[in-house]
Amino acid sequence: MTPGTVYLVGAGPGDPGLLTVRAAELIARADVILHDRLIPAAALAGARPDAELLYVGKQGGGEQVPQEETHRLLLEHALAGRSVVRLKGGDPFVFGRGGEEALVCLEAGIPFEVVPGITAGVAAPAYAGIPVTHRELASAVAFVTGHEDPEKPDSALDWPALAGFPGTLVFYMGVRALPRIAEQLMAGGRPADEPVAVVERGTLPGQRTLLSTLTDVGERAAAEGIRAPAVALVGPVAGLRERLAWLERRPLHGRTIAVTRARPQASALAARLRELGAAVVEAPAITIRPIAAQLPDLRRYDLICVTSPNGAHELFRQLAAAALDARALAGRTVAAIGPGTARALGEHGVRADLVPERAVAEGLVDALAAVDVRRALVVRASEGRETLPEALRARGAEVDVLALYETVAEQLDAETARAAAHADYVTFTSASTVRFFLAATDALDGPRIASIGPATSAALREAGLEPDVEADPHTPDGLVAALLADNPQGV
Ligand code: SAH
Repeated sequence: MTPGTVYLVGAGPGDPGLLTVRAAELIARADVILHDRLIPAAALAGARPDAELLYVGKQGGGEQVPQEETHRLLLEHALAGRSVVRLKGGDPFVFGRGGEEALVCLEAGIPFEVVPGITAGVAAPAYAGIPVTHRELASAVAFVTGHEDPEKPDSALDWPALAGFPGTLVFYMGVRALPRIAEQLMAGGRPADEPVAVVERGTLPGQRTLLSTLTDVGERAAAEGIRAPAVALVGPVAGLRERLAWLERRPLHGRTIAVTRARPQASALAARLRELGAAVVEAPAITIRPIAAQLPDLRRYDLICVTSPNGAHELFRQLAAAALDARALAGRTVAAIGPGTARALGEHGVRADLVPERAVAEGLVDALAAVDVRRALVVRASEGRETLPEALRARGAEVDVLALYETVAEQLDAETARAAAHADYVTFTSASTVRFFLAATDALDGPRIASIGPATSAALREAGLEPDVEADPHTPDGLVAALLADNPQGV
């Protein structure tokens, strides 16, 4: 059998956005993925559902899966003809034992490829606002493993040479090694007041940076309880952090925000909140279950109202199933309840004729005031409000309601529910997110409560919760703006 290829892949320092395109491609194709602990949690989400995921990092008690065992697994799977991704934190060839694994493949005649990753020693400083090189401050940078015990006589590190190195030193290390590193550098002539930055959990939620000097870094790191994973950067460039720190200046930095909307809709909101610096807990409380409906002949209606993006997508899914397309709506007036629904219609080639300013049923009723309606179809969820059909009927129109999906509870695991309940904010984007989230969690008395609009706020009040923040406009963008307004100076 031809052996499969082994891909030695860097997963980057932790932020899933720093995974390379090539890494994501290979993860999506792999038969087997052998991975470490320090890889972004989201990195494996792109793996095939039938891929075999094997953990070869540190085990519970801190014992590493022996390197020989990793080698054995690499060979076993590749020789069985599988494509194997060996996924490592940062870069596979920077303190990652990737070189050893490549040699093992070479000796066994197994083809291998290397996919570099963004190494923690560059990424963590960058997220802390520290360029590892800078004109006039540092023209060289050295990456050093600080796991070496400096007291060991056979230490591979040449401390006097490191102390004399003309540039930035970046140590990948256990935090306990810090005091000895600082001592050795000062003993070798590095100035005692040279700036040192220790970056903990670089590029991950909760990243922390301690800026100090060689004299006091050991003591301060211990006092502040700095923990692994962390890198320490020694050199004048560390001082640039005072001006270049950008991460902490983002308006939602330090805030944890839970998003309860259905998974497919949650990601855009979550991405926007992350960009603004928030740590996001994705806690989808609801999911959409299509209802197979008998689609009526749409030509019978002069007005078609679509009251949610899900309704729009479901309408077109069911049209397609009946071998129809956007032409089925030709000549009808199409109204969308808000910009999100209008966008969803647009994705199917239909430009909404009407989008009210206020994205609620009452807003749509107002917007329709000047439209002559005889027969209307309202496309929506089975559990929708009656406001719109009733208002149209009151105006003498004949109204049919077409329920195309129902909203049902999504199972929340205990850990996610707990994380959401301890967030700074929980966001609710519909009455159903309120109902199902509250059913899945204990009392919500910690977080501030953010509601997308009046219908959602009414559901919250019914459950005995007063929203602290209500969006206006009643859209996800409006919700983001309301959260920003609630955090005027950032943290
Ligand atoms: N191959 C990896 C390094 C593996 S050694 C890379 O290129 O980044 C593991 C060490 O990397 C940790 O002890 C820590 O010093 C550093 N490290 C890894 N991820 C880190 C992170 N997110 N923030 C700070 N340091 C990190």
